[in-house]
Amino acid sequence: MNFTLYNMRRQALNWLLPKRCFQCAKPLDDDRGPICKTCHPELPFQDHYCTRCGQNFSANTDYCGHCIKTPPAFDYCFCPFKYESTIKELICKLKYREHPELAKVGASLLARELIDNNIDSPDALIAVPMHVSRLRTRGYNHSALIAQNLSKTLNIPTLDNALTKLRKTTPQARLSLKQRRKNLKGSFELKKIINAKSVAIIDDVVTTGSTAEEIAKILKKNGVDYVQVWGIAHTL
Ligand SMILES: [Zn+2]
Ligand SMILES: [Zn+2]
Repeated sequence: MNFTLYNMRRQALNWLLPKRCFQCAKPLDDDRGPICKTCHPELPFQDHYCTRCGQNFSANTDYCGHCIKTPPAFDYCFCPFKYESTIKELICKLKYREHPELAKVGASLLARELIDNNIDSPDALIAVPMHVSRLRTRGYNHSALIAQNLSKTLNIPTLDNALTKLRKTTPQARLSLKQRRKNLKGSFELKKIINAKSVAIIDDVVTTGSTAEEIAKILKKNGVDYVQVWGIAHTL
């Protein structure tokens, strides 16, 4: 990334920032994120992860054994944090405790890591869709809110209403990997022609990657060459 673009993104990142640290509530002393300088190093960063599926693993290679044998339909996965401590609290509040405004905090944390790690920009972002009945109950799609905030900061368009979730599925957290794949099969449908060649799927948390796998297959069948998955956290 060239220096001017890098600085423009830094300035855009400021737009996202809340005034107080999400962890300690002290006024922010740094213009780079929603967590202060003291708390930032304490965040549960992923130390070594597979760049294909995002899973934490210890071997000194880019890809985990599973991705070497059976690579997923998506090409790259970036989830900078482990799903624990402050990050877990942030995501749980955003998702289950009616705090849609925290999508801004999550997007800001993710944007900072995307910039610092010089992750390639896709042509477009696509949020994991939610079934209409769940959307009615919750009132908002947290992944779409993260995508909208990222879009403003990174200046990448979102593909709104391009993908729809056809049926309500059992929450993935209760299922095994095999059950997750079966649960999601045929549950998403593309509603619009996609003109982008590279797309990043936006989710809050990536677990087994089954949701991203299903969406990536659809995108690749419809002309997308390169699919990334961007999440705030990875649970594995
Ligand atoms: Zn703090
Ligand atoms: Zn992997």
